[in-house]
Amino acid sequence: MPPKVDTHKCTGCAGREESFCERACPGDLMAVSSENGKAYCRAASECWDCMSCVKACPAGALETKIPYQLGYFKATLRPIMGKNVITWKCRDIYGNEAVYRYVNRIVR
Ligand code: SF4
Ligand code: SF4
Repeated sequence: MPPKVDTHKCTGCAGREESFCERACPGDLMAVSSENGKAYCRAASECWDCMSCVKACPAGALETKIPYQLGYFKATLRPIMGKNVITWKCRDIYGNEAVYRYVNRIVR
């Protein structure tokens, strides 16, 4: 299931030759529309939910839709990247939100 793009937040990574989400996708699935300047997934059926694009977006414009087998269409999972830390915001189908924070790099 491809990431959901919040077109209000997406800047199209203006000024960059390649957007952060395009650069991050291992399947080369993300693109920026020449019509509206917003990101989109050009081959939805090929997306395997690796979330690389979601983590890479500096605008927080991408959100993972959790497959219906796990949470139905209203459930979402959103990472917020910090320095050496990642915060996951998980929203279930009833709108309840849980927040998980993990240190993802050991700094010595
Ligand atoms: S990285 Fe984020 S802001 Fe940049 S084009 Fe992709 S979705 Fe839009
Ligand atoms: S979730 Fe992974 S495979 Fe799907 S569009 Fe994003 S980077 Fe590509």
